[in-house]
Amino acid sequence: MPQAELGLYLHLPFCLSRCLYCHFNSVVFDAALEARYAAALLREVNRGAGAPEGAGAGSVYFGGGTPSLLPAGRIAALLDACRGRFRLSDDCEISLEANPGTLSEEKAALWRSSGVNRVSLGAQSFSDGELVAAGRAHTAAMTLEALALLRKSGFDNISLDLMLGLPQQTPRSWRRTLERAASSGVEHLSLYMLDLDEECLLGVMAREGKVTLPDGDETADLYAESVEYLRGCGFEQYEISNFSRPGRRSRHNLKYWRREPVLAFGAGACSFDGGRRRANASSLEDYCRRIESGRSPEVRSESVEGERALSETLFLSLRLTEGLDLDRLAASTGAPLPEGYAAAIEEFLARGWIEREGSRVRLTVPGMLLSNEIFREFV
Ligand code: SF4
Repeated sequence: MPQAELGLYLHLPFCLSRCLYCHFNSVVFDAALEARYAAALLREVNRGAGAPEGAGAGSVYFGGGTPSLLPAGRIAALLDACRGRFRLSDDCEISLEANPGTLSEEKAALWRSSGVNRVSLGAQSFSDGELVAAGRAHTAAMTLEALALLRKSGFDNISLDLMLGLPQQTPRSWRRTLERAASSGVEHLSLYMLDLDEECLLGVMAREGKVTLPDGDETADLYAESVEYLRGCGFEQYEISNFSRPGRRSRHNLKYWRREPVLAFGAGACSFDGGRRRANASSLEDYCRRIESGRSPEVRSESVEGERALSETLFLSLRLTEGLDLDRLAASTGAPLPEGYAAAIEEFLARGWIEREGSRVRLTVPGMLLSNEIFREFV
């Protein structure tokens, strides 16, 4: 079987300010720290994280944080380093996460000329009240400006992130957000359910009764309605949270769900080589020090083979609407599905959370809404 091309992930953890629900490894922008971090990241990419010189890569993803916040030349320099160490395929998907209010024509032109061909824009909502309540540093008008600027700069593969379950969100405001997003002409949409970490500010505020969140059942109904609505607008759902125009699925993110190798660089970044997962130090200070002193940034490494690989294959494949072919799985492992997993699948089939077509099983929309509960059975 031909070896899947690598995905390269570069973590750029700087943001204008912290959103109230943020649970990502990110900090407020500081010019000196950003310059130091960028130098460390370049060194890590140049070292190649143990991959053979010239290893083939089919996707590069700049995630954050807010990569679009960084000085214009950063992305170009990092891409040069990727090209110096890896062989990027001719049709390499090169994605960059951006937030409204952090783009400029100069930056967008430089991203384009350096090879970025996909931008994922954090819109979250088209209601200014919801954006304020979530602590986002932009308005809906700024999202539209960013979209127009990206189009003008020649980007023809744009994704919008939207968030369901934000404070102040109502069925009416959500439908308006979704309609505006779907009619904006973008090629891809990600719909995430607000997932509050206990530690994040919004989580604390919700616990203390200082903020009211939309009713969970109502949000679930809106998700199911959105799946139908987007289908009617010509978007294909290919993963629980992801929808695209034909041919515009995120090739990089598909690698995670298909357990293909991804080399990840930067603070807290996690790599997978098909058999092991390795994680870098998540503190920026620790990460920079390790790189500056010539040490590896890696702080954890674990095998994900055998039973764990099977477990991961089950719950990651079920995230995708293509689901999982049980016959192919049995052929690749050389053994039938363990009894516990087979029984769980039968139970979910009976409950209507999973559907079967030939030897392939996939989540139904009600199953997608209960995916965390379902996946627990496979861990
Ligand atoms: S933009 Fe993203 S990474 Fe940055 S603070 Fe907001 S949620 Fe966190």
